[in-house]
Amino acid sequence: MRKRCVVVIEDEELIRRGIADALTAAGYQTLEAADGPTGLVEARRLGVDLVLLDLLLPGLDGLDVLTQLRQTHTHLPVIILTARGSEEDRVRGLRRGADDYVVKPFSARELLARVEAVLRRSGGRPPTIRGLTGPGAAVDFQRREVVFADGRRATLTEMESGVLLHLATNRGRTISREELLTHVWGISAESLETRAIDMHITRLRAKLAGEDREAGGEWVVTVRGQGYMLGPEVRAEAEPAEGGS
Ligand code: CA
Repeated sequence: MRKRCVVVIEDEELIRRGIADALTAAGYQTLEAADGPTGLVEARRLGVDLVLLDLLLPGLDGLDVLTQLRQTHTHLPVIILTARGSEEDRVRGLRRGADDYVVKPFSARELLARVEAVLRRSGGRPPTIRGLTGPGAAVDFQRREVVFADGRRATLTEMESGVLLHLATNRGRTISREELLTHVWGISAESLETRAIDMHITRLRAKLAGEDREAGGEWVVTVRGQGYMLGPEVRAEAEPAEGGS
């Protein structure tokens, strides 16, 4: 089973390291960030299950990180790390979509209990899209398969499927090549030329198009100078609610 991934956004190094060590010992994978902007990038990586968020952070305040994160990740569990006595912060945090809070100083045991409780409540993952139906074909994310109207099939690579799923999860928003890199490849934009993304998109379109060369561009639309978007005619099929399939 995949290790669950927790992002720790905390500028005080001793606290951050302590949390990360406790989580690692408990079997979690961790990502660390010491300021708000980096924290936001880390929290938006593909495969992140939960975010621990300090409020007083350099660069971008914790509450602002939360607000921006909620614009793209409605269901990602967030636990706020707050100083004793700042009830107002806790209330504001919960109002802005935090799932829980822990008051500093806290024990590793208390923190782990909160993390487990929030992950249990959230089902451990956000609702996902099961498949897509678009021009001439349908996509099954579970099988990573394109099924054409005449029954022929094509298999998508993990990356192709990830790109398509990310576009579908963010329908109506233009996704930059940099965002695809950090979300689907889980790396920063500098470490791979963004041109590589274009090659993957070209291959993805060819697979989705099948015989009908035009259809690929209807699945994934280029927004000149900005990035890519899911085509307006592509429909998403949502994962059934808890307990389904
Ligand atoms: Ca702080």
